[in-house]
Amino acid sequence: MHVQDVTRNDILKLLGAGREEDANQKTINRRAMVLLVALRNAGATIKLQKGDWPKTVDNDVDVCSQDEIKAFFDVCAAEEKLLFQVYLATGFRFREVNTLTWDRVDFRRNVLWVKPDVIYGFKPKNHEVRSVKVPSSLIESLKQRQKSSKTRLVFPTRPHPKRPSYGGDQPDAHHLELCKEVAFRAELNCGHCKSTKGKCATTANCERWYLHRWRDSFATNLLRSGVDIKTLQTLLGHKKLSTTEKYLAALRMDELDDKVEGYSRSISTAAKCGSRNSRRYSSPRVNVEASGRAARASLYDSENHLVSMNGGVVTLLYDGNGTLQYDSLHRMTSMTASNTAYS
Ligand SMILES: [Zn+2]
Repeated sequence: MHVQDVTRNDILKLLGAGREEDANQKTINRRAMVLLVALRNAGATIKLQKGDWPKTVDNDVDVCSQDEIKAFFDVCAAEEKLLFQVYLATGFRFREVNTLTWDRVDFRRNVLWVKPDVIYGFKPKNHEVRSVKVPSSLIESLKQRQKSSKTRLVFPTRPHPKRPSYGGDQPDAHHLELCKEVAFRAELNCGHCKSTKGKCATTANCERWYLHRWRDSFATNLLRSGVDIKTLQTLLGHKKLSTTEKYLAALRMDELDDKVEGYSRSISTAAKCGSRNSRRYSSPRVNVEASGRAARASLYDSENHLVSMNGGVVTLLYDGNGTLQYDSLHRMTSMTASNTAYS
């Protein structure tokens, strides 16, 4: 193919292939951009149209709640359950699960491996070989599955009802579709998405359900249970620590929401008392000062982390070393509503 023959369609195909791979959208866009620049330098005249570039989202961490996970697994067939349990227990990326072979399962040490595979042309991202320890119950389920398996792959393409030559020893490319299908079956769609494939209220097409969500849930659960950020970086196979840190930021926002909830309750109690003076509460410790139309408040949790609030803006400050560290800003409209109770 000559440079002049490359069209907009080819670039769109490249963008689509990246999504199939479940790569990060920024990575996909960067890849397409580099190619586009190179082609234009070589004399090609490819014009992309408005909306061709998929949007990228920063710090997009959406974790499955325990209720969602339960509802999801409740409607799964045994094979589906095992597949998504592997996603949740390993935090593996799509290609890492779909090219997973039996020799990557260490039944003795309860470990699953990510390693290159020549046959399926799989190379780990950043060339990182890594392993993740999984629950023994999952290893037991995998052991049972291996007994009836006829391929190297743990999750091969499922046989086609009418085409005997289809499937067999090929990696299953349809995990994303399956994930959306199960979520729809479990009535877990958000009900608000609209796309060319239809509304998610009536089709298996909810944007909230994508494979990376299992990875996000895996990472957040580990952080919650006290795993340190360096270990998590190794488990996720991230090249840069900054990539892993987005989970830390998301977790803090999550905890902040909990604190704000507790704070709002304290505020409404104070408002009901009709007090205009300083008040102190225990657990969580809150100091409220009200004068005129303004309310200032400070909330400390049991570890003496300070959440200070002022005028509807919440600042989370960690003072573990005696130094206050600016963390994040969060607009709280409900706070403003609470404040008016003082005027
Ligand atoms: Zn939706």
